Amino acid sequence: MKYISTRGDAASKDAKPFCDILLEGLAPDGGLAVPQSYPKLGAKDLARLRKLGYRDLAFEILSLYIDDIPAADLRAIVDRTYTKAAFRSEDITPLKALEPGLSLLQLSNGPTLAFKDVAMQLLGNLFEYVLDRRGESLNILGATSGDTGSAAEYAMRGKRNVRVFMLSPHGKMSPFQAAQMYSLQDANIHNIAVRGVFDDAQDIVKAVSNDLAFKAKYRIGSVNSINWARLVAQVVYYFKGYFAATTDDSQEVTFSVPTGNFGNIFAGYIAKKMGLPMRQLILATNENNVLEEFFASGAYRVRKSSEVFETSSPSMDISKASNFERYIHDIVGADGAKVRELWAQVDRSGHFDLAGTPWWERVRASGVASGHSTHADRVATIRDIHARFGYVVDTHTADGIKVGLAHREAGVPLICLETALAAKFDAAVREAIGRVPERPAGYDNIEALPQRCEVMDADVAAIKAFIAGHAS
Ligand SMILES: *Cc1c(COP(=O)(O)O)cnc(C)c1O
Repeated sequence: MKYISTRGDAASKDAKPFCDILLEGLAPDGGLAVPQSYPKLGAKDLARLRKLGYRDLAFEILSLYIDDIPAADLRAIVDRTYTKAAFRSEDITPLKALEPGLSLLQLSNGPTLAFKDVAMQLLGNLFEYVLDRRGESLNILGATSGDTGSAAEYAMRGKRNVRVFMLSPHGKMSPFQAAQMYSLQDANIHNIAVRGVFDDAQDIVKAVSNDLAFKAKYRIGSVNSINWARLVAQVVYYFKGYFAATTDDSQEVTFSVPTGNFGNIFAGYIAKKMGLPMRQLILATNENNVLEEFFASGAYRVRKSSEVFETSSPSMDISKASNFERYIHDIVGADGAKVRELWAQVDRSGHFDLAGTPWWERVRASGVASGHSTHADRVATIRDIHARFGYVVDTHTADGIKVGLAHREAGVPLICLETALAAKFDAAVREAIGRVPERPAGYDNIEALPQRCEVMDADVAAIKAFIAGHAS
């Protein structure tokens, strides 16, 4: 299995093996890594996979995409990653039935209580393995407004040859989120609280990454949502959810996915391409509905940061969807020149429109339905699910449930992805049900733990100096 860039030549002689793209951010031509083809599974494969537990299933799926790590090593990495100790359940991603034909795929039982742990925990172990093998080290630089940064830190803490420099807006995260990150005492984790807003932190990351000499000298890397390995790790739980919701492989299911950067739902799309019997893939946005608009009209219109709403499902507050380029690459038949042309158009005018083109028919045929949800919908959904089933969901999961139910079809099991635990979103939950959500054991008092972070001005030179002084 080799990887090419979405903006490159599909038959490229420059195609790279998995471990080469693992540590790379964007491809050199500005595109994203994609496999030269997607493996197809037949009836026999599905029947075999159905019987497997999470770790065995993960090993089987990952092996299809990773052929430059010896099988025994990959198995050991998977076994180390997906443990009951880390995910609080032997099933890793259990399926919780709400009523016949409606269930939640619980993806948020990892250390930071959001689905990003499922992929990020694997990434931490893959990074450590590949860096060890190459005798290299890496300094991961990122900016976070909450979920991604903490998932990355919990995945990389204590890892050999990896340091993390995570910029966050000083005083702007929820006390729970701040406590999760700043209470980490591992020597390889550096939290930098920037005096400013998230965009200031993000701008600093861009400025540092654009200094190619600095980037090379300090081996600066990232773990953002365009990382291919994160997507493959997420493909696994679509299989797991399907097998848990059905009794044989002739049945179809529909998944509903709260969507931001199109990472999670693209993993579902890959599962479908691989042959998982899926009727619909439902894309749910919040008020930031760039993607709902595309799937309804064919027009992809990115927003300016001033046009992005701050919502109560903040991990879906996006202006553009980075992984969307991988989907479009597939829709245009892996034509890298076409992808280049479309993204040049986005750079020039902020949009492209596939309506009336042959590609639009392919989008329609790809089985993605879309819708959006508002703050009032989230609150009503949290209240309704609690009243009917005695279970409290978070705001992002509520977006997915709301849109999923609107597209529900009789006789087709609907699986809604639970992307975070309610415990992370006290305010919205209190608004919905009049009390704050319960926290899992071990998270009761995290705000009281000693915290450790470097508070700095939004000053690129000063932050570069800090990185240079603490890099591995
Ligand atoms: C990141 C995140 C999302 C969005 O996922 P994408 O892969 O960016 O589409 C949804 N819900 C939660 C809780 C998240 O942290």
